[in-house]
Amino acid sequence: MFENLQERLGAILNGLTGRGSLSEADVSAALREVRRALLEADVALEVVRSFTDRVREKAVGAEVLKSIKPGQMVVKIVHDELVEMLGAESSSVDLNAAAPVVIMMVGLQGSGKTTTTGKIALRLTNRERKKVLMASLDTRRPAAQEQLRQLGVQTGVDTLPIIAGQSPVDIAARAVQAAKLGGHDVVILDTAGRTHIDEPLMLEMAEIKRKSNPHEILLVADALTGQDAVNLARNFDDRVGITGLVLTRMDGDGRGGAALSMRAVTGKPVKLIGAGEKMTDLDEFHPRRIADRILG
Ligand code: GDP
Repeated sequence: MFENLQERLGAILNGLTGRGSLSEADVSAALREVRRALLEADVALEVVRSFTDRVREKAVGAEVLKSIKPGQMVVKIVHDELVEMLGAESSSVDLNAAAPVVIMMVGLQGSGKTTTTGKIALRLTNRERKKVLMASLDTRRPAAQEQLRQLGVQTGVDTLPIIAGQSPVDIAARAVQAAKLGGHDVVILDTAGRTHIDEPLMLEMAEIKRKSNPHEILLVADALTGQDAVNLARNFDDRVGITGLVLTRMDGDGRGGAALSMRAVTGKPVKLIGAGEKMTDLDEFHPRRIADRILG
């Protein structure tokens, strides 16, 4: 719990009340607890390091106020810094481009890409009154295209008719063409995933990007990704160039440290949060809420 870190820091620092400013040693002792909390929340090690360095800079020498306990003061510095790093402003899917606006979904297999495609399509349909077309580019997993078609039936969103034997790039081109003819405002391309990052996957993503000119490229990642989150986000961002992140399974027990890890290494905003299996289980990203959850 949030109080938990506060309590831990209180035990270390509160004896300092009324004693001038926080020394390097006081802050180091506090930061050991902060570091532990972040690692428990699955924030990647390198991000924990850069984060605690930033907090150290702000906290050392900070005056210990009479009105607030030193433990609380450090928790506030940590919390504010976390919100800042997570991105203080919330940003959602950007549709500010000529129609049809292409959104490309990328990520590993099982991350929740197809489910999130359906959720975003439904949201844009209901909230923004957009006409959306979804297309599955996953030709590797035979059931993938059918899974998206069923989500289309369930949500009432159009899906691109399945033609067997087409390559992912050809399906993408056909989807954009169909959207133009069908008067769709948005096309969402649900790409194939792999169980891990490999060269053919990255080449395929780059090729689809080149041919379909997406306005948004959203990396979908499981909130429980843990230490791998950095590698995942960095790879997809370097090779494909993502524009935002979607974190799924935030309804689970995970504390969501991956949000901080991925945001920190890519600088790209977390745009949406998946919080369940239902098509309506999609939330906006609130940095303060995630910061509370990460600090636990
Ligand atoms: P893909 O391989 O990346 O396309 O993953 P899927 O969309 O097929 O999702 C894999 C599984 O995760 C499915 O059983 C989904 O229902 C489930 N799933 C996706 N997003 C969420 C989420 O936000 N919360 C929960 N609890 N389950 C999710």
